[in-house]
Amino acid sequence: MPGQRVSLGDFELIAVSDGIYRLDGGGYFGVVPKVLWEKKARPDDKNRVPTGLNSVIVRTGKQTVLIETGIGNKLSDKMKDIYGQPAQLLENLSAEGIAPEEIDIVINSHLHFDHCGWNTVRKGEGAVPTFPRAKYFAPEGEWNYSRHPSPRDAISFITANYDPLVDSGRMKLLKDGEEIVPGISVRTFPGHTAHMQAIILRSGGKTACYISDLIPSSAHMDLAWGMSFDLYPLEVIESKKRYYAESVREKWLTLFTHDPEIPWGYIEPDERGKMRLVAG
Ligand SMILES: [Zn+2]
Repeated sequence: MPGQRVSLGDFELIAVSDGIYRLDGGGYFGVVPKVLWEKKARPDDKNRVPTGLNSVIVRTGKQTVLIETGIGNKLSDKMKDIYGQPAQLLENLSAEGIAPEEIDIVINSHLHFDHCGWNTVRKGEGAVPTFPRAKYFAPEGEWNYSRHPSPRDAISFITANYDPLVDSGRMKLLKDGEEIVPGISVRTFPGHTAHMQAIILRSGGKTACYISDLIPSSAHMDLAWGMSFDLYPLEVIESKKRYYAESVREKWLTLFTHDPEIPWGYIEPDERGKMRLVAG
């Protein structure tokens, strides 16, 4: 899958990946019974399912933008043992001929460790930007929350992924609806967290959306197929309805953050209203 490309108006999108990690199948599929989800994702002997860490490069013609930065290489041994730490993003960028110095902009949908891990790399006691020229962006509400998270998702925050960037002024914190550069903006879809932002790309009359953990994979398109990790499961359903109302009508390309095989697709209801992927 890494290396897949699609054009969106004047933008070029390239799928890149930090590799595949493992999430507990029960966590990944929430209240969905295993007899149903195991048809879509095959669990290993510890009940973990392969989960993608998909980033997207957007070449706008003026900037090279990196959406999401995977897990990175800073996990503790204990977390490595649970989730794995594939750490393939830089290699996969290099395979596309993209050096870290070329990235102008990095955008994080939220600050859980599997979405912003390569923002920084350790250097001595601290952490420095992996992408030395880049300006970084993340939701302001996420960062505020990350300072005092609930015990429920506290394990998901690794402050070295963002605090050094905020402290040095390299990371700008975004409000709902802000535009980063022409054609690239964010919109808050609460549910997975209170402040997670989707990244919306518009060019030449076409729209794509990195919907992040609201619809993490093509196995999660149904309204009721949420994750146990979602902090506000009923809001996930409302946000998905709001997303589909617009994305189906306007034929948005949906970009999946955790699908291990499919980086993007068009989601449409069939005659019974069941969401499915269709060819562009
Ligand atoms: Zn998350």
